[in-house]
Amino acid sequence: MPSPTVIINARAVARLHSGHVWIYRSDLISEDNVSVGSLVRVIDQKKKPFGTALYSSSSQIALRMISAGPIDDLPALLRQRVTDAILYREKIVSDSDACRLVFSEADFLPGLIVDRYNDVLSIQILTQAMDAEPVRASVIETLRTHLQPTGIVERVDARIRELEKLPPRSNSLLWGEKSDTTITVNGVRFQFRGLEGQKTGAFLDQRENYAAAAHYAHGEALDVFCYQGGFALHTAPRCSQITGVDSSRPALEAAEADAQLNYPDREFEWIEANAFDLLKDYGSAGRHYDTVVLDPPAFAKSKSALATALRGYKELNLRALKMLRPRGILVTCSCSYHVSEADFLEVVSSAALDAHRTLRLIEKRGQARDHPILLNVPETSYLKCLIVSVNN
Ligand code: SAH
Repeated sequence: MPSPTVIINARAVARLHSGHVWIYRSDLISEDNVSVGSLVRVIDQKKKPFGTALYSSSSQIALRMISAGPIDDLPALLRQRVTDAILYREKIVSDSDACRLVFSEADFLPGLIVDRYNDVLSIQILTQAMDAEPVRASVIETLRTHLQPTGIVERVDARIRELEKLPPRSNSLLWGEKSDTTITVNGVRFQFRGLEGQKTGAFLDQRENYAAAAHYAHGEALDVFCYQGGFALHTAPRCSQITGVDSSRPALEAAEADAQLNYPDREFEWIEANAFDLLKDYGSAGRHYDTVVLDPPAFAKSKSALATALRGYKELNLRALKMLRPRGILVTCSCSYHVSEADFLEVVSSAALDAHRTLRLIEKRGQARDHPILLNVPETSYLKCLIVSVNN
């Protein structure tokens, strides 16, 4: 059966020519008889074809391009792309049994995320098209064939399902017998609970930054927004004392359990607090550290929140810089897509001036390579991680 046709306007055509793969609902001229989550042929008003897209009947992103030509067999195409994504990770991930296997648009599978946690796979579905039963079946079969997992779990983002007008679902075991396991990242072990925790369970995008941070960390370290202690546990072998701060008690309990798993003879300090308040109090109390990590949640969830977000980053970085001893190390991150690398560098530079500290930029980093960036789809690039040393 030929795919239904959607007609796009000149603005959408220009967007496709710029290499982007999204078409907004406001740029559709006609979407007659197109059913929820179907494959559509994309043409302009002069009937010029642009290929095939996945359609959403409710999202502001109405079309996500999936091929420059027609598609006869979607399950076969998905099998091929999932296989390619797995092969790419085999080339670039060598220090870990946990990584992102499929990163949506960046793996040409818009709306599909797959993470590997040792023998447990975690999938997340973000669009109507990827939620269709034959699509799910094809993805699961391909993952099973290549990776022989003991379990496949689905992590649900309830807000996205609502936006996509998909029926609610809960986190669940989709296939196999187990959802919990232990992963090893750069030699550090973490317990993974497939049906709990934030994101798909861990912050895999920081995997390479953990190793980089561990290289420079020393002395007394403060891991702010530590979650389950990703940076804390990586930097521990180089540091004399580790304090982790987070507002989530369950995250801190997981951090302590993992600390015991890796370093049974050491003591760690985990503090449940609002990081802004704690940094302020510790600053006034004259506390000092040799290493500070700042890895807050995304402050700018939309463009309109940018100014407020920049103020938040400035405050955190300023307080951290004031607490660092000479030759101290600051590892500072932003996972807000709307805050560019240039914005973030400016924030840290201006915090340095206000704190009267001279900073040397040691490394300018981003998301781990298993979260690839499509150059013409800026939304695929979101994580910034700067490692700086304080030289006075
Ligand atoms: N560094 C972590 C990931 C941090 S994610 C890692 O590598 O795994 C952001 C964390 O900030 C979450 O764990 C969240 O619970 C915490 N958080 C959010 N707002 C906070 C606040 N105001 N104060 C302290 N922690 C906060």
